[in-house]
Amino acid sequence: MNSWTVVTGANRGIGLALVNQLKSRGNRVLAVCRKSSQALNQIGIDVIEGVDVTNPSSFKPLLNFLENSSVECLINNAGVLFRDGLESLSVEEIRLQFEVNALGPLFLTQALLTHFTQGSKVVIISSRMGSIADNTSGGMYGYRMSKSAANMVGQSLSVDLKTIGVAVAVLHPGYVRTEMTGGRGYIDPEESATGLIERMDSLTLQNSGGFWHANGEILPW
Ligand code: NDP
Repeated sequence: MNSWTVVTGANRGIGLALVNQLKSRGNRVLAVCRKSSQALNQIGIDVIEGVDVTNPSSFKPLLNFLENSSVECLINNAGVLFRDGLESLSVEEIRLQFEVNALGPLFLTQALLTHFTQGSKVVIISSRMGSIADNTSGGMYGYRMSKSAANMVGQSLSVDLKTIGVAVAVLHPGYVRTEMTGGRGYIDPEESATGLIERMDSLTLQNSGGFWHANGEILPW
């Protein structure tokens, strides 16, 4: 039976670097996105387009493709960020960040439940911006709140999925030079992806439910 590593938001940024490296080392990778890109097409892997993580009915092409095959690892990477502060709060932007960053991983993981087997893994690419303990700089209400909610999704999933032998990790990718950061950051997507894959590889049922930086550091909730 084919077993897939499924990555959302695979058309650019960290998701693109993840699918590239996973393919290079021999994983059977399924790239999921709203719309593919030239860079993704060039990798030469299966791509499922039209999947908007805020809309479970759009998961259908993915579920049809998977049919009876299993998912070795689901990497919930798709995310959005709107910069805000007390002077510039937008209900619509906050709502969208919750929908993409927190509800997305929850509903996609739920939709794929029957495809997980003993030893499967679920990763949520969250952010240390979602850490309450780590927040000394304030602001970024919508993004921080949505990523805190994503962290809680990861924790509950780690409890619920342990019973079926599935481990769950919440990962911070580092401060990465992508469109999301306007090209600012400490590392490139390739370095981030290498670290994230290392964390994914070292995830077990024993350490399931942890919150790690891509560099291996344990992060406070
Ligand atoms: P990018 O903005 O480069 O990429 C975001 C990806 O998410 C794109 O593929 C985008 O697709 C996809 N996406 C956005 N909305 C949706 C949606 N509704 N349905 C499906 N896909 C969607 O960001 P990064 O690569 O930097 O970010 C990847 C993850 O890492 C995110 O979860 C982000 O929050 C997290 N992160 C990033 C940090 C950084 O420094 N870059 C730091 C901490 C966390 P499309 O092209 O269609 O918009």
